[in-house]
Amino acid sequence: MKNISILGATGSIGTQALKVIAGNPGLYKVCALSANGNADLLIEQALAFKPMLVVIADEDKYQTVKAALSGTDIKVLAGEAALCEAAGLDGVDLVLTAIVGSVGLGPTIAAIKAGKDIALANKETLVVAGDLITSLAKAHGVKIIPVDSEHSAIFQCLVGEPANSVEKIYLTASGGPFRGKDLSFLRGVTKTEALKHPNWVMGAKITIDSASLMNKGLEVIEAKWLFDLEADQIDVIVHPQSIIHSLVQFNDGSMKAQMGLPDMNLPIHYALAYPDRITNDFKRFNFVDYPELNFYKADRKTFRNLELAYTALRQGGNMPCIINAANEVVVEAFLQDKIGFLQMSDVIEACMEEIGFVEKPSLNNYLETDLHTRIFASQLVTK
Ligand code: NDP
Repeated sequence: MKNISILGATGSIGTQALKVIAGNPGLYKVCALSANGNADLLIEQALAFKPMLVVIADEDKYQTVKAALSGTDIKVLAGEAALCEAAGLDGVDLVLTAIVGSVGLGPTIAAIKAGKDIALANKETLVVAGDLITSLAKAHGVKIIPVDSEHSAIFQCLVGEPANSVEKIYLTASGGPFRGKDLSFLRGVTKTEALKHPNWVMGAKITIDSASLMNKGLEVIEAKWLFDLEADQIDVIVHPQSIIHSLVQFNDGSMKAQMGLPDMNLPIHYALAYPDRITNDFKRFNFVDYPELNFYKADRKTFRNLELAYTALRQGGNMPCIINAANEVVVEAFLQDKIGFLQMSDVIEACMEEIGFVEKPSLNNYLETDLHTRIFASQLVTK
């Protein structure tokens, strides 16, 4: 029995993880669950899975959750600091970080410091402070197991391979709803169109990131830290069917790919069960349903966010933190119809030029960078 806490239990990843857990009785015990403001779903999950602790980040919702769970032994806490308490809860083996955005940084650090292995969905944490997180994980002997399907694919391809045998990796990208479109088309797209991902059903933020290719940019940075690679060793290839989830090219020229249907249940369950593989009844891939698998070069000129992410990765320091914070602000602004699709890249680039560069940032530098970038980007989107 593995003891698991889920931060961001009410989101797309969180709810799928709980389904995986419910579908495998006797394998996992849920110890802590957290949400931001979705009190109703958090209460429902708490009553179903009976964790020791639930945390609602939005303090205004505390009384609602507390009252609903008053007849149980479940402890209820509220606020951001309580997320760190959930992350470091005694007796927990694995923390699934499924919060969206850089707000996941503090709880992830708390979990690592408490010696918990991490099933990492919250890619923004590695984008913001990958050096700090990976060195902290090393110091505390903590494993970081990726949940992102592309990184899970690379992770699975690397099992049993010698260290330093990777020449390069290819992260596959579906291309999102606007694959093949040009700038004049993108100028007029709406949030409703951007939220229609062809292959994956996900939370709103990552869906917009997928449409703008910022998701792939964030994944390139995430891959750098997870697999200790240089920017030139990470390539992106557009593969509209999302069957090959990513590939590794080894230094003898041999390549390994991990493939399957586009279904997040697979990488979620792999991360929860690692190093085991658990039998399941998820739908199987059938070759005859996919007589063709296609691959295209990613268009970094039209989808500028991907190029900006590579630039940030090459510059290093706090630059990835800047693009992440700016991106969180512009995605929110786009979802609120305050800015157009292409303006998102303009604001991100303006932040990269404006916010002070720090070559070797401390945690405080990262937190300051995140805050200053948000303030500057917010001014630009309200102009
Ligand atoms: P969702 O938006 O669906 O869920 C986000 C979760 O985080 C919810 O539980 C939400 O609570 C909680 N949350 C949001 N803001 C805060 C906050 N300020 N404080 C505490 N909790 C907060 O996101 P996804 O599940 O789609 O994505 C989660 C992470 O996983 C992201 O980093 C994403 O990039 C990554 N990921 C997601 C994939 C997917 O298929 N969805 C695939 C690969 C990676 P509430 O519901 O109460 O608002």
